[in-house]
Amino acid sequence: MARPNQARLNLAALRHNLSVARTLAPGSSVVAVVKANAYGHGAHIVARELAPLADALAVACIEEAVALRESGITSPILLLQGVFEAAELTLASELGLWVMVNTLEQLCWLEEARLQQPLRCWLKVDTGMHRLGIEPSDTAAIYQRLQACHQVQADIVLCTHFASADDPASPQTAAQISEFERLSADFPCQRSAANSAGVMAWPAAHYDWVRPGYMLYGNSPFAGTQANSGSLQAVMTLVSAVIALHDVAPGETVGYGAIWTARRPSRIATVTIGYGDGYPRLAPAGTPVLVNGQRATLAGRVSMDMITVDVTDLPAVRIGDEVVLWGNGLPVGEVARHVGTIGYELTTRMPARTPRIVVTP
Ligand SMILES: *Cc1c(COP(=O)(O)O)cnc(C)c1O
Repeated sequence: MARPNQARLNLAALRHNLSVARTLAPGSSVVAVVKANAYGHGAHIVARELAPLADALAVACIEEAVALRESGITSPILLLQGVFEAAELTLASELGLWVMVNTLEQLCWLEEARLQQPLRCWLKVDTGMHRLGIEPSDTAAIYQRLQACHQVQADIVLCTHFASADDPASPQTAAQISEFERLSADFPCQRSAANSAGVMAWPAAHYDWVRPGYMLYGNSPFAGTQANSGSLQAVMTLVSAVIALHDVAPGETVGYGAIWTARRPSRIATVTIGYGDGYPRLAPAGTPVLVNGQRATLAGRVSMDMITVDVTDLPAVRIGDEVVLWGNGLPVGEVARHVGTIGYELTTRMPARTPRIVVTP
């Protein structure tokens, strides 16, 4: 038998989650965000599935868009960070990409470019995230320069990005929405603000275009339970299997650094997945896994190619039994909380070593 590790992909869940986004934001067009290898799921597999269902796709940079075009994706693709140098505008125009304008430099490159066909542009305004986007006070001047620019199509989308939309208790999102309302009031253009958390919790922010990423993969961006999160279905289920079992006496230790000590006669299952396969090394003892669908917890340090799991309370466990690290029945966000990170990071860091296998077409 081959090494059993798989990142199983449920594409029916992916389509379902997109329909959840559409139901939550019925008046909005959808840009499905597939940057960073579709959050680690596999850009080609995910884009092929979502392209016919979404109104556009979004990636971070032109290299990601070129790869999608080469794999036959013809839908509009938005470059969320825009171009990194003037020369990229020519290729963006040839490939029919949409570009975000985040800075004055990017505006100047557009004004100086000589393109075959004008580009569709999104103009990002900084309403409080202070990461990307033009100054609010520059909005009118820059919008007019974009409108006057021959390299730019007439249908500019004004947009912004939220810093705290995943925290319903934070006043920041409401403040960003009202700032965005104020800034965009004078322009007849389309607008966009909502990421997944905005789609799920901030209906006032849906506007003409929503930009969900994380929720499409079946994960809730909220730390606590949130009204709509139960309707999402995990797309990636990371599985491995038990390859050895050991009985360990009280006082004996398990794994590198001997950081876990048996307090009772214990049964330890060795599972053939580690940080070289995308399972986070910082996962501490107590992090949950599912063995044959039943919960057990990590015991001892994560190795490169293995973990050790305390299965003392699951006496039926045998070599070859399936272990789910996250996904169906165990949300990646729950695992991530034990590690001190977010589910976004766990799926996005999944290396090529772990095969992506489509199990539900
Ligand atoms: C990544 C990204 C999104 C999607 O965010 P999620 O939290 O994954 O929904 C939306 N907009 C921009 C500008 C982004 O960079």
